[in-house]
Order: sequence, then C-alpha cells, then structure tokens
Amino acid sequence: MDNGIHEECGVFGVYGVPDAARITYYGLHSLQHRGQEGCGIVCLDGGELKCIKGEGLVTEVFDSGKLDSLKGDMAIGHVRYSTTGASCLDNVQPFVFHHKTGDFALAHNGNLVNSAVLRRYLESRGSLFQTSSDSEILAHLIRKDSKESHLPRIEAIKEALNMIEGAFAFLILTENRIYACRDKYGLRPLSLGRLGNGYVVSSETCAIEAVGGEFIRDIEPGEIVCIDHHGLRCNKYSDYCHRFMCAMEYIYFARPDSDIEGCNVHNFRKLSGRYLYEEAPVEADIVVGVPDSSLSAAMGYAEAAGIPNEMGLVKNKYIARTFIQPSQELRENGVMMKLSAVRSIVGGKRVVLIDDSVVRGTTSKRIVKMLRKAGAKEVHLRIASPQLIRPCFYGVDISTVEELFCASRNLEQVRKELGVDSVHFLSKEALYNAGHRSEFCLACFTGDYPTDLYQEELK
Ligand code: SF4
Repeated sequence: MDNGIHEECGVFGVYGVPDAARITYYGLHSLQHRGQEGCGIVCLDGGELKCIKGEGLVTEVFDSGKLDSLKGDMAIGHVRYSTTGASCLDNVQPFVFHHKTGDFALAHNGNLVNSAVLRRYLESRGSLFQTSSDSEILAHLIRKDSKESHLPRIEAIKEALNMIEGAFAFLILTENRIYACRDKYGLRPLSLGRLGNGYVVSSETCAIEAVGGEFIRDIEPGEIVCIDHHGLRCNKYSDYCHRFMCAMEYIYFARPDSDIEGCNVHNFRKLSGRYLYEEAPVEADIVVGVPDSSLSAAMGYAEAAGIPNEMGLVKNKYIARTFIQPSQELRENGVMMKLSAVRSIVGGKRVVLIDDSVVRGTTSKRIVKMLRKAGAKEVHLRIASPQLIRPCFYGVDISTVEELFCASRNLEQVRKELGVDSVHFLSKEALYNAGHRSEFCLACFTGDYPTDLYQEELK
C-alpha cells in the first residue's frame, strides 16, 4: 500500500547499444516506482556529455523530440525521490561534472551516512557544491586533489569509494566507459545485463527484462564493474563485504517481477504470506491483501490456509500527482480516493487482512474502518514484516521514531488502536527463510545498523 515510505531512487545505464538514451528512457520507466519526483538522462554524444532532466515522471520530462536529441550508444539515467537534499531541479540527477582530466556524469541510488563530515572536509579544501544532494560528494572526492589527478581514474574512484560510508549504487559515465559500483555492505541492489552487443546496468532486473536484455549477474557488494570496449572488467575496492540487502526492497519497494540476489520478489512475498499463516493461523472466511505490494503475501497466506484470496479492496490507479487531495476533514470522514472496500465481497465475512508494513498507522486504521463499514464481521490483521521501530539512514524516508506507530506501543495497544480482532507481525526468522539468506539489513525493525552512523561527528 502507499504507506508513506519511499525508496530514494533508481539508476539505469546502457553501454554499446545504439540509441542508448531511448533505451535508458524505457529502463527508467520500469523503475518509476522507485522515484517519481524527477528524472534525467545523460548520454555521450559525439564525445560530449549531453543531459536532459526535469521534475516529474519519466513520461512528463521526456518526449520523442528530446530523446531524438540525445544521440550515441552510451547513457545513464536516474529516477528520484528525495531524502537528502531538497526536492528541486538542482538535485535531479544525473549530475555532470567538468574537469580538465575529462568530464563525467554520475547517478546515485542510496544515502551516504558520513556525507556531512565529508562535505565539511571537502569545503575546507576549497570544494564548491552545486547542490544539497549528498551524491555530489563522490564527484568531489574523485577530483579532490588535482595533484593526484595523474592517478588512473579507476584508482581515484576506488579511493573515493573507500571514503564514503552508507548505501549506494553509483553509475559513472565518462567519455569512453561506464563504471557501476555497489556499497560494500550490499544495501542497495544493482544488476548487470547484456543487450545486443552491449550491456545494461539497472537497480532492478525488471528494467533489464523490459528493454529486452538478458540478466548476467548482480554486481557484488564492494565491487566496481568497468564497462568499455574491452568488455567487462571487475574490481573489488574493499575486502570488507557483506550482504546486508535492505529487507524493505523485498517487502515493499521492488517490483514483484524483479529478482534480487537470486530471489524473486513475488516469491519472497508469497513465502512471507505462508509463514504469516504458519506463525499466526486464525479461523476466517477470506483473505484480502492491500493492493498492490501485499497481494503476493495474501496469495501465500490463502494458499497455506486453504481459504479464498479475494479482491476485497480495490485501488484506484488513476490518482495523478496533480490530483486535488481531500482535506484532513474529508479524510477523517472516510473519503479515501485511493482504495475502496467491496461490500459484496467482505460483507458478513471474517477477513484476514494482509499488509506489508505499519508505518504511521493512519492508513491501516482507515482501511480497517473501511472494511468494517463495508460489513466485515471480523478483521484479523497480518503484517508481512516485523514492527517498524527505528528510522532508516540508508535512503528510505522513515525519518523519526515519533512517526513510527509501533515504536511506542505494545502488541495489544497496536491491536486496539488499529481496531482489529487480532494482529500479528512476521518474525525476522521468517524473512531470512523467505529470502533463503542469512544476512539482511533489518535496522528499521531492530535498531542494529550495519554501518557506523556518524551521529557523534555531527554534534
Ligand atoms: S533500515 Fe530498513 S529501510 Fe533502511 S536499508 Fe535497512 S531495512 Fe532498508
């Protein structure tokens, strides 16, 4: 459901394929769910980096004429939802940097935890920042000292990557190659594919499929893949390497048709639903999933429980960004434009309601009210993730503990305030089992952050 949490961004790159900008456009369109505030494409056209970007959806920013003006067989693109840095055109990526050793463009998904410390360090050495986005920091680090600019670019990039901490998938486009890099904790996904005689790199595999590419492999945590006329060259910039993939990618953000580190997102969610049933079965007539991200988990729960999975909630897909939202008063009166409960399906039924997460609790309360108003006899809430109790520092806008409904309530308080007959949150163990893995970032559920947070340095 639209529970108020957002992924920061998505990146897509093309090397060695004619009309690379147009392919990037289609790739970004498939990553639109990762960011709707702005987008951009930079391509290498006749040895020069050309950039078009703007605020809005991919289909709003680009038209055929603009894509025709971006020629060449190398491009990178970005869709943005802002967390660090204000939401304005200056912060829309990719960023283009001009330097005597060669121009380059940069696109970033994730969030750096030591950006304030690095910004201070770089400014004290004379760097002037064009934007408030932390993504620009990498560019300044690559070029931090002109006397070091004799270093081969790959070495300068490796050195810079070792100075930044946090979650990132970076694409860097130069006059002859693309570098694709992933953080050493493995927090954000980045996948590599083949397309014709060239290559594509994408935050999610669904976009590789969408452009007709063939998935090769995930880029490893702590790896830089250099793509140029030699083909692929793979380098490790760090020996420290973990697989703390953001669990929220599987639970909520990623598209169900994407595979992340060998696990399909729909299959993960469906298994989560099965485990929800095994952990907290209940006598009921139907299962109803909150559209869209909870439908796979609802399917898994219903299959395991042997009861029908019904479309008791329907989503209005045509809420444009310019839609006039109901006032607070109208919302309190139950005006829900995004979802409707189907009376003829839920009326008189004992309903198992499946949702992916509870953030502020306001949407969950409204949905439960809606189901009751439509005649549901009982509502048993099953959440396909543990309780969210801590903020995220890695590019997801769960910003304060105060906002998080479960942070200050025990299970019985949660049940009562949401107005349900019973409630259960999926265990952490079930998430590991659903992903067939032994490592995850679960910091917003546990408070165990895989990186230093550099909070002390900011005081
Ligand atoms: S804290 Fe939560 S949202 Fe943030 S990276 Fe970790 S699992 Fe994902």
